[in-house]
Amino acid sequence: MAPVFRATLRVTRYTITPQHPAAHLFEVKLTVDTPNPAGQRFMLPSWIPGSYMIREFSRHVISIAATSSGAPIGVTKIDKCTWQCVPALGPITLTYTVYAWDLSVRGAHLDDTHGFFNGANVFMLAEGFRDSPCEIEITRPAGERYANWKIATALTSVAAVKDFGSFRATSYDELIDHPVEMGNFTHASFEACGVTHHVVLTGRHRADVPRLCADLQKICEAQIRLFEPESAQAPMSEYWFLFMVVGEGFGGLEHRASTALIVSRDELPVANEARVTPAYRKLLSLASHEYFHTWNVKRIMPARFMPYDLSTENYTNQLWFFEGFTDYYDDLMLVRSGVITTLEYLEIEADGIGRILSQAGRTKQSVAESSYDAWIKYYRQDENAVNSIVSYYQKGALVGLALDLTIREQTGNAKSLDDVMRSLWQRFGMVGVGVPEGEIERTASEVAGADLTAFFADAVYGTKDLDLVTLLATAGITLSWRAVAASSTPPAAGKAAERVPPALGAKIGSDSNGDAKLTQVFDGGAAMSAGLSAGDTIVAIDGLRVNAGSLERKIRAFDIGSIVELVAFRRDEMMQLNVTLSQPVNQTCVLTLNDVPPEAKARRTSWLGR
Ligand code: ZN
Repeated sequence: MAPVFRATLRVTRYTITPQHPAAHLFEVKLTVDTPNPAGQRFMLPSWIPGSYMIREFSRHVISIAATSSGAPIGVTKIDKCTWQCVPALGPITLTYTVYAWDLSVRGAHLDDTHGFFNGANVFMLAEGFRDSPCEIEITRPAGERYANWKIATALTSVAAVKDFGSFRATSYDELIDHPVEMGNFTHASFEACGVTHHVVLTGRHRADVPRLCADLQKICEAQIRLFEPESAQAPMSEYWFLFMVVGEGFGGLEHRASTALIVSRDELPVANEARVTPAYRKLLSLASHEYFHTWNVKRIMPARFMPYDLSTENYTNQLWFFEGFTDYYDDLMLVRSGVITTLEYLEIEADGIGRILSQAGRTKQSVAESSYDAWIKYYRQDENAVNSIVSYYQKGALVGLALDLTIREQTGNAKSLDDVMRSLWQRFGMVGVGVPEGEIERTASEVAGADLTAFFADAVYGTKDLDLVTLLATAGITLSWRAVAASSTPPAAGKAAERVPPALGAKIGSDSNGDAKLTQVFDGGAAMSAGLSAGDTIVAIDGLRVNAGSLERKIRAFDIGSIVELVAFRRDEMMQLNVTLSQPVNQTCVLTLNDVPPEAKARRTSWLGR
């Protein structure tokens, strides 16, 4: 009986009101005209696509009630994120309030200065209505002080001009893929390949907005042309960069036609600053990363994400590709679009290589395993993460670099990773088919015209280090290492190499008293060999008092192999230990350009675009 009854009005209607900005409360009303007569269920997602951790947004729902045909009906919670109404034949309206005080790209946040929400935080899914169209009413908060608030979102507006009022989405999945910002923000826009791109800055700032738009435009056009070299056709009809500007903060989350970003005020460009500062580079790289996701993960998607199960973990081995290769391309697009120089790009790559190769975790976990366990390991790192896991972002980016150079080598520079991306775009992303496990590897082999099984066995499913020295040499780039603690410039010709100071083999932080607290203890390092652990506080070395500021300096005075006496505390228990200071594990990776034969130079030019 249900299908006959429910085949008529399938639209779900949402109204969201910033009800009490000072108390950080949104009120949401959700109406289903043709509820399940056995008892309609409603659920709020346990996670938000793009951020692979169970967050249980339902913990922020603080009151809920239901009515049917105007009369109150019973609604009961049946698990951590699901509610069920008593059987009702008429339309059901669920009314609930959501506490919004999470200023993150994944959350919802509301105060007197602005409102922001992701649909996954505030919009419940009416069970059985996931593919039904949605009508959304976004209400302006009541009161004079909100009279000038504007709205910024990629959600489709019913009116010609976007403002508070009516919006629509073709399905629940689309509804929750368009975050919404409201307030008195800075709004600018630019065209990239004929598509309007909006730039919204919320929070106090003194940014050179035209400069930001000009740089973003170059990056966006380069990416559109990467995927569609012939037509330069973007896959969305408009795009929104929603920047939240704060004192300290960094992060982004991708969506099909927008991205929510949190950046530090100091990362924004200021007027008359001609160069791209390292801080601004970081911001551009983040924006480039999220924009690349418009194709890679929002449209070219793991088959295991189609559809997402929003109530529980969704496992895939492929984040090394969807996140790692996006990480590879974010900086590559900066150099190719001319926003940064080749030397600046090599600095970024060298930093990434140095970071991965100095962490023992890379020998314990493959990037495929890291992808699978993102939910419980990458997103929930503890003090031992450096020894036990590898980042599918950072190592994944290096796999992208190695694969790109391998394909260029195999094909005499006729093909590259760009061809792999385009092939996956055409065969999967454009046509809405999920990418099965193993398909990325098959596509890469096909493009390379060679069986790359061994490459992927080592690079993705194994823990063997990538042969970046050889691969980078094919593009005329030399990879070398310098001790981390030595001066930042290499010794001049004819001068002796600088003295390499010893290392404790631990990351030193500060506790609330300013004492030296070990935050990480590296596998096989001096501290671990002597029995020190993360959390221990070191108070004296060789009979002298030390603190967070002086410990490293004191250690530098010794030689590699010196045995020193340390006094440390574990909780309130004092320990006296002898530590043999060791060779530093961390080294700085340096990439340098060589004068090379024309063939290698041509390869480098087509790779970096300059
Ligand atoms: Zn990403």
